[in-house]
Amino acid sequence: MVKERARILVVGGGYVGMYTALRLQRKLRSELRGGQVEITVVTPDPYMTYQPFLPEAAAGSISPRHVVVPLRRVLDHCRVVVGEVTALDHAKRTAHLTTLATEEEGTGPDQLEYDELVLAPGSVARTLPVPGLADHGIGFKTVEEAIGLRNHVIEQMDIASSTRDPALRDAALTFVFVGGGYAGVEALGELEDMARYASRSYHNVQPDDMKWILVEASDRVLPEVGEELGRYTVTALRRRNIDVRLTTRLESCADRVAVLSDGSRFPTRTVVWTAGVRPHPLIALTGLPRTDRGRLKCTAHLTVDGVPHAWAAGDAAAVPDVTAEPGAHTAPNAQHALRQAKVLGDNIAHALRGEELETYAHAYTGAVASLGLHKGVAQLRGRTLTGYPAWFMHRAYHLSRVPTFNRKARVLAEWTLSGLFKREIVSLGSLEHPRAEFERAAGGEPSTDPKGSS
Ligand SMILES: Cc1cc2nc3c(=O)[nH]c(=O)nc-3n(C[C@H](O)[C@H](O)[C@H](O)COP(=O)(O)OP(=O)(O)OC[C@H]3O[C@@H](n4cnc5c(N)ncnc54)[C@H](O)[C@@H]3O)c2cc1C
Repeated sequence: MVKERARILVVGGGYVGMYTALRLQRKLRSELRGGQVEITVVTPDPYMTYQPFLPEAAAGSISPRHVVVPLRRVLDHCRVVVGEVTALDHAKRTAHLTTLATEEEGTGPDQLEYDELVLAPGSVARTLPVPGLADHGIGFKTVEEAIGLRNHVIEQMDIASSTRDPALRDAALTFVFVGGGYAGVEALGELEDMARYASRSYHNVQPDDMKWILVEASDRVLPEVGEELGRYTVTALRRRNIDVRLTTRLESCADRVAVLSDGSRFPTRTVVWTAGVRPHPLIALTGLPRTDRGRLKCTAHLTVDGVPHAWAAGDAAAVPDVTAEPGAHTAPNAQHALRQAKVLGDNIAHALRGEELETYAHAYTGAVASLGLHKGVAQLRGRTLTGYPAWFMHRAYHLSRVPTFNRKARVLAEWTLSGLFKREIVSLGSLEHPRAEFERAAGGEPSTDPKGSS
């Protein structure tokens, strides 16, 4: 039984937010029923995104709605508030948040009081002051970006197929990806594969007409899978005619021309930016202790160092890696986020009951990555796999990890059906402006606002 009534606020509904709330729901079931504990999850979207499936969603192998988990369904004993925490006053145990309603009402942020705080807002893209990036760059962190990118790539093939201007055709068929980590390599591998397949349906676009370029500032890609598999990945991508440029940086993409640090220039309409992440900017506004890299300073018990009743994990938190050398922190990835969330949930329950806290200890077990349909690399407990077995391992691993049985069954069904039928290669770009046709019919100018309201 908990010692005092506790209102738990979870900021973020991603890996850490959702799994911590799930764990708390399970551990504090009777207290939740008795009203001694309340759990509120505040997050901008009513779903958790299973980010490792975004590249497959971009390729059309998984439908977008199967990449996300509806929070209200799985967190049925929590209060889910769709909104954004904009500021925190932890000394007063108060959070300020905006919701769709506060925006409509124009009354300013709401206030929410709490007793225990879980900070899990994750990370945002780490951008650099590259000219043109803010105007033309495309991110790859959300399901909207993944589907938008898929539509965009197919649209470029349509432009190339119908234009008489060779310069426009060339730019439309040039795709530049910046950053050779998981997100960049997997997104490029899957999309190149999809576009190669799609080109069969175009009378005048051949796979060799397309230029796919991967730009990476360091001398290797996929550091998560180790050096040997990183080298294999470079060779495998180059064999597919993908131009992998190591120790190279994007210097500008102004005027839709990608200029690289090796002096090369590529007119292009597609620059995908996946060059790393940094902690969510909310962390800097909390006044809580941070490392020099901006992550929250945490203990191995997943408390914020020296701050009572504050907890954190995942991409936004610097958690000591007790399985490595002193001073090391756990890497920002799903493997740690998921496991940390479980310990975090347990530790809050322990703290409320006056019990001893558990230490988070997890040695990295390896990594799997897909490089397109039937292609991949995997490194698990020292063993390495490449090609089809690695790709199969990638799918099996993520199928076992994606939350809820319902979702696993749907994803498996989709994979099975896509083995029997041809891939879908249609672009639904108009989904981004669903009111455009009606606005034109009504005699107005289509607005650029995706919701169509001006
Ligand atoms: C394309 C891609 C592929 C990946 N593949 C892999 C992989 O194969 N293996 C692996 O281990 N890792 C992978 N990762 C990394 C992994 O997804 C992240 O490490 C993990 O999601 C981190 O969990 P988190 O809970 O800290 O953050 P997230 O899961 O990002 O959740 C943060 C949540 O906080 C919410 N939020 C943000 N701001 C606020 C606010 N102000 N108020 C309230 N809520 C807020 C966000 O909307 C989000 O719901 C991948 C990442 C990407 C982008």
